Amino acid sequence: MTASNFVVPAPRQASLPVTGEAGLFPVRRIWCVGRNYLEHIREMGNDERDPPFFFAKHADMLAPEGAVIPYPQLTKDLHHEVELVVAMKSGGINIPVEKALDHVYGYAVGIDLTRRDLQQASRKKERPWEIGKSFDQSAPCSALQPASKIGHPAKGKIWLSVNGAERQKGDLTELIWSVPEIIWKLSQQVEIGAGDIILTGTPAGVAALVPGDKIACGVDGVGTLNVSIGEPRG
Ligand code: MN
Repeated sequence: MTASNFVVPAPRQASLPVTGEAGLFPVRRIWCVGRNYLEHIREMGNDERDPPFFFAKHADMLAPEGAVIPYPQLTKDLHHEVELVVAMKSGGINIPVEKALDHVYGYAVGIDLTRRDLQQASRKKERPWEIGKSFDQSAPCSALQPASKIGHPAKGKIWLSVNGAERQKGDLTELIWSVPEIIWKLSQQVEIGAGDIILTGTPAGVAALVPGDKIACGVDGVGTLNVSIGEPRG
């Protein structure tokens, strides 16, 4: 019996390639940390003492290495936010900080693409952030590097350039909340599971993108990611 049990076509399983592996990493949920580098909090005019918080993108909003991402609808102020991505191989609730890294499969480089004008407007109206953060191809992500090969990076340059000019620069040592602390905190909010990925926040230097821009970014010891922005869809 090969007939589908679904009444409409089932969505394809979202996934990320893994460097050095034939198999793919299946993506379940995409979580993002808001405000996790001091300089970025300052440039956005936010309260430095606020704890970081989480928002989500959908798994099918990933975009791969080399993608040409159409300039998205509704916005006039699309911003880049380069981030270290953590990929989970297992999870649970209330994971202690000292056990958190046992649940990590690996790491990647991602961009939390943001419709900044819509994010700011929703913030002013105390509405949710989806319209600013959660849209098609809003989560470009590199191949994963297994922690079994690269370990758990806690320092190293994180950077992003547009058309060859550096825009964002920071170091993983500047994360206000470390990767284990992020996992601990998120697991108090939801049950973390295999396939979840977490974008861990962006350093300072976020700025606008326009069609034709070529973005290169990376995290030392983890990898690089190259995508570009295309014309809006008609
Ligand atoms: Mn972000």
